Amino acid sequence: MGTWTLGIETTAHTLSFGLVDGEGIPYPAASDTLRPDKGGIHPREAADHHKDVASMLFTKAMEMHSISPSDIGAVAYSQGPGLGPCLRVGAAIARGLATKMDVPLIGVNHCVAHIEIGRQQCGCDDPVLLYVSGGNTQVIARLNGRYRVLGETLDIGIGNMLDKFARNQGIPFPGGPKIEQLAAEYLSENPTPTMEGLQLPYAVRGMDLAFSGLLTAAQRLIDNGAPLNAVCWSLQEHAFASCVEVAERAMAHTGKSELLLGGGVACNNRMREMCNLMASDREGTSHAPPRMYCIDNGTMIGLLGWLELQKRTTALDESAIDQYLRTDQTPIVWS
Ligand code: AMP
Ligand code: MG
Repeated sequence: MGTWTLGIETTAHTLSFGLVDGEGIPYPAASDTLRPDKGGIHPREAADHHKDVASMLFTKAMEMHSISPSDIGAVAYSQGPGLGPCLRVGAAIARGLATKMDVPLIGVNHCVAHIEIGRQQCGCDDPVLLYVSGGNTQVIARLNGRYRVLGETLDIGIGNMLDKFARNQGIPFPGGPKIEQLAAEYLSENPTPTMEGLQLPYAVRGMDLAFSGLLTAAQRLIDNGAPLNAVCWSLQEHAFASCVEVAERAMAHTGKSELLLGGGVACNNRMREMCNLMASDREGTSHAPPRMYCIDNGTMIGLLGWLELQKRTTALDESAIDQYLRTDQTPIVWS
């Protein structure tokens, strides 16, 4: 039997096959993301996309690392949380491959996979995770054998908020990188900016967050004639500061000194900078994995599968997906 663990990621718009070798060393994934011309992600269309490109991408993943299917010793897949139709495609591919190759199958928690690839890549031990992605925004820490959610969005994910704001301005998905570029442009034109005329509501709700009011208010600024790049700058400042504030309180409460960023919005340089400032003010450290491991990727699924396989596998009759799987439902059985 082979020694590699294959990881399959299909929680939303990205299908990705990643690989981890017998020592748990991760290798870059072969990924393809559905980018709708207009509107958001339609779960059924994303699932159809995953079905259409799966065979080609699997072959690409094998070729990228010069391995063959017989080198695979286990198949890991995202069991949840995510969009049902998308998750089901990944689970079906995983079941099919594991059965055909007669190797163990393991369903893993997507959010926990973001944490573990970050810990591994950044060499941090016991961080508070600020997980900022399209659909998720959570502040997470390891307490009593589980990753506990200490704060999270009460409405939409921060990335969805950025994407939706961008979409309303005619900017295609993903909007986050373009907003970052426009905000940087505004800063280069206005090296000492003020919030005058650009004030937005704060997204903090106790230890939780809420972004839909911020989205509405940013749109209102645009409707009232504020320049797009100025609003992008203000939107980033308000949204990111809210996340960093909750993360800081989580660090203070848990007594942890490491902050780890994960999720697609963690690609943003201003977000990384704010986290660095906060952590160094507390005499702590802030870490962010390479961008290819911030966004959704199969490698992190393979890595968590590899870690968990030492203690458990998933039987076929327990392999159903769980759209609503919570971060704290997964016992930490690895170190
Ligand atoms: P994920 O859901 O983790 O795959 O991440 C996708 C989300 O990350 C989308 O909402 C993107 O707009 C967002 N994103 C990617 N790059 C950036 C960036 N540089 N700044 C802000 N958001 C970003
Ligand atoms: Mg994700």
